[in-house]
Amino acid sequence: MIHLISKKIAALATVCILLSSCGQIQSEQEKDNKANPSDSSITAPAVTEPTSNIDPSTTENTVNSIENTIQEPTTEAVPELQYHINKAYNVVPNEEGINKKVVLLTFDDGPKDQEMVNGLLDTLDKHQAKAIFFVNGYRVKANPDLLKQIYDRGQIIGNHSWDHIDLKKESPDNARKQVEDVQQIVEDNIGERPKFFRPPFGSGNDTLHKIAEDNGLIYMTWSNGSLDWDSKNKNKPDAVIQNVMDQLHNGSNILMHELPWTVEALDELLTKLEEQGYSFVDPRAISEAPEEQQN
Ligand SMILES: [Zn+2]
Repeated sequence: MIHLISKKIAALATVCILLSSCGQIQSEQEKDNKANPSDSSITAPAVTEPTSNIDPSTTENTVNSIENTIQEPTTEAVPELQYHINKAYNVVPNEEGINKKVVLLTFDDGPKDQEMVNGLLDTLDKHQAKAIFFVNGYRVKANPDLLKQIYDRGQIIGNHSWDHIDLKKESPDNARKQVEDVQQIVEDNIGERPKFFRPPFGSGNDTLHKIAEDNGLIYMTWSNGSLDWDSKNKNKPDAVIQNVMDQLHNGSNILMHELPWTVEALDELLTKLEEQGYSFVDPRAISEAPEEQQN
């Protein structure tokens, strides 16, 4: 617990450093348009301190080991809240002038398997992409280390209910427990509660919307299904890619799963999306819908 609290404090401190650095950089830029701050200059305060007073002959190894121990995404700038999920479950800008040509990547029903998780994380890293991993509570209970890996490598954890059952058929109390138990087990493991909720099978009702709202969860289904779950696409990465490309539109909320053929498809899929000019939304840039877009 103390460890988690100290990690949280460290994260907050980093955010403060980042915010104040960004503010300074912005005002300096206003004075001098030549200023071109790089990420390394922004994150420098959080990283350089531990490397001081090191014998130069051992610097390389020490830096490597420090890098290996810094698993928290605390040195990454948290993006501004610029997007929301609309009623069609697309991801759309909150204001004019923000890039609309974006997609949201999501992977449901894990975490299950080390090899598949590694494959997804490596490919996301290669493309500098962030995704939401909508997890089930019973999977987290069985594989807490995989959950931590996903989080530690800077990806975002979403709530996909405990048992992956049709919550519409459950009593309100059971449905609430299905959601809230996942909030709890995720917090117990990574020190943060999910911010996003997707009901299994996209099956929900007013009660479920209310439960999500009570837990501060942004509710979504999807708007571009890869159909990787359909038995006819089993072991067919090309079909998964084609299904996404066939439905591609601005703000596509792409539903995929932790499945071998999706892991295999991902690199080529992300490359194709990039070639078509799409960017990957950082889920941390997604806010509640602006007031005028609700109801
Ligand atoms: Zn699912």
